[in-house]
Amino acid sequence: MEEMSYYEILEVSQSSDKSEIKKAYRKMARKYHPDANPDDPDAEHKFKLCNEAYQVLSDDEKRSIYDRYGKQGLEGMGAGGGRSGGFGGFDDLGEIFEEMFGGGRRSRQNPADMDKYPLDLGVEISISFKEAVFGCDKEVKFTYKKACGTCKGTGAKDGKLAPCQQCGGKGQVYMRQGFMTFSQTCPVCHGAGTMPGEACPDCHGQGFEEVEESVTIKVPAGVDSDNRLRVSGKGNIGKRGERGDLYVTFQVEPDDTFQRHGNDVYMEVPVFFTQAILGETITLPSLTGEIELELERGTRDKQQYRFRGEGIEDVHGHGKGSLIAQVKLVYPKKLNDEQQKLIEELQESFGIESKPHESVFESAFEKVKGWFK
Ligand SMILES: [Zn+2]
Ligand SMILES: [Zn+2]
Repeated sequence: MEEMSYYEILEVSQSSDKSEIKKAYRKMARKYHPDANPDDPDAEHKFKLCNEAYQVLSDDEKRSIYDRYGKQGLEGMGAGGGRSGGFGGFDDLGEIFEEMFGGGRRSRQNPADMDKYPLDLGVEISISFKEAVFGCDKEVKFTYKKACGTCKGTGAKDGKLAPCQQCGGKGQVYMRQGFMTFSQTCPVCHGAGTMPGEACPDCHGQGFEEVEESVTIKVPAGVDSDNRLRVSGKGNIGKRGERGDLYVTFQVEPDDTFQRHGNDVYMEVPVFFTQAILGETITLPSLTGEIELELERGTRDKQQYRFRGEGIEDVHGHGKGSLIAQVKLVYPKKLNDEQQKLIEELQESFGIESKPHESVFESAFEKVKGWFK
């Protein structure tokens, strides 16, 4: 099979002009892009070919060499490779790539209008377990950014801006990896495409000043770690005076007694082994006061007792969780002579019942013997 020409790959005629080629490439690239054709080696190959074809046909010099001498003529220039001088020549590809898949980048129609920082602001505060359970009023101290009045947020002395040298004012730099081209926000101008000619003396070229403020917020009952509360209009202030929001994220300090899991609260209850055997009633602290725990006779280690409605108020008002008391059996580490005697007597009084392993293992002993006969 004869190799397809670059024109055939892009399905254009040999007389097509640049914009037709660009349009055709865009169509083909979209069709065969690996994202749209996962695990399809054929599509990947075609995508590769389209890129190769476009890089040649979109470059006047390469195209005319290709027209006259074919692919061989481009060897040594590195078909599909870049012109000397870095990323030049891939700008088109990068732009197309960005148009197709970029999406997220801020519009660049007027880079000078872009703020140097996001308007929304985040702050984290620590609250006690009790404050989280019952809610509270809390003062939050934070520092917000405000566009520098002297340079109107540009960071440039007298507001004079020059195009960024790194990205040539595009705000993006392009990198090639294999047959893919990736765009990245310019690390020098952070996407603005411009740089201060001379730094503003007041903000040292940053374009903003930092201001401390505090606000008292109402922390709702039931709030948990990593919950976020929006405080409207307390964020950073942009160039045009518009203000973002402040997002307060909570971190709840752990409590010595209670451990939270969702809206339920767990507590560990040490129970002496005799209490567990006898089934006593013991008094426990709860979130709101005290509760009585009636231990079952023969309570096991790690046995859980649930008290419905004694947990944490759901932060969205969906009722209360449970308090779960988990037993931790405690045994004496030492016995004095009298205790030793009493326990031995107790064990004897139970007879065979106090040696459950014997009845279980008796048959096992017999069976194992059989294995070696
Ligand atoms: Zn730049
Ligand atoms: Zn300034």
